Amino acid sequence: MEIFDSHTHLNDEPFRDKEQYYLDRAAKLSVTKAAVAGQDPEFNRRAVELSNQFDNLYAIVGYCPDVAKDWNQAARDQLIEQLRLPKTVALGEIGLDYYWDESPRNIQRKVFEEQVELAHSLKLPVNIHTRDAFEDTYEILKNSKVSEYGGILHNFNGDPEWLHKFLDLGLMMSFSGVVSFTKAVDVHASAKIIPWDRMLIETDAPYLTPKPYRGKQNETGYAHYVAQAIADLRGVSIQEVADHTYRNAMRIYGIK
Ligand SMILES: [Zn+2]
Repeated sequence: MEIFDSHTHLNDEPFRDKEQYYLDRAAKLSVTKAAVAGQDPEFNRRAVELSNQFDNLYAIVGYCPDVAKDWNQAARDQLIEQLRLPKTVALGEIGLDYYWDESPRNIQRKVFEEQVELAHSLKLPVNIHTRDAFEDTYEILKNSKVSEYGGILHNFNGDPEWLHKFLDLGLMMSFSGVVSFTKAVDVHASAKIIPWDRMLIETDAPYLTPKPYRGKQNETGYAHYVAQAIADLRGVSIQEVADHTYRNAMRIYGIK
C-alpha cells in the first residue's frame, strides 16, 4: 500500500532539519510521496529546495491570500521560474481567505484570478485554499479554464451541495484530518459520496491533526489516519482509499 499526501508543509519550522526523520516515520505508515505546499516567497523557496533534495517530494509554489498584497511583477517572474522546474507539480496554495483577511478582498480576488490564469498558461493544476469564501471562489473558478489542467480544493470542508458545485467545475477535493473529527458531519457526508476519481487526501501538517492524534502536532505520515477515517466512513479497506487517492495525485500532478 502506498499513500500520497497531496498537501503538506514539510517546509515549515517544526520540521526544519528533521525532514528525513519525518519521512522515515511516514514510510512506516505507508506514506511514500508528498507534495510540499508553498504560500509565500520563503515557503516557496523551501518547497523547491526539498523537492530537489528528496526523490519522493514534489513542490507546489504560489502566493496565498495572506501575501496577495505583496504580489507584483518581480514576484510573478520568480514564481514562473520555480513553476518551470521539473519537480514543481502545481501552483498553490492560492485562493481566498475571508476569515483572516490579511490582504484586502479585492486584491485577494485579483491575485487569485491572475495565478489561475498563469497556471493555465503553464499547463499546471492549481492547489486552492478557500476559507469563508466559497461563493467568490466558485465565481472566479467558474469564469476560468481551471478544468483543462485541473484544480484541487485543499482541506475541503464543504457540504454535499458545495461539493457538487465544485465537482461540476471539474475540480478535485482533498480531505484533511478534519474528516476524522466526530462533529464534522458535512465533511463526512461529502467524503461518503464523492466519486473515487475526484478524491485526494492530505495532512496540511503541522495543522489539522487527525484522530487518534488530534491535539498533537501533525506530520505527513498521518495521512494514513486520514485514509483510515475515509475508509471507515465508506465501509471499505484503507488499501482501497490509498490506491484511489495515490493514483489521483499522480494523475493531477502529472507524475510519471
Ligand atoms: Zn496548507
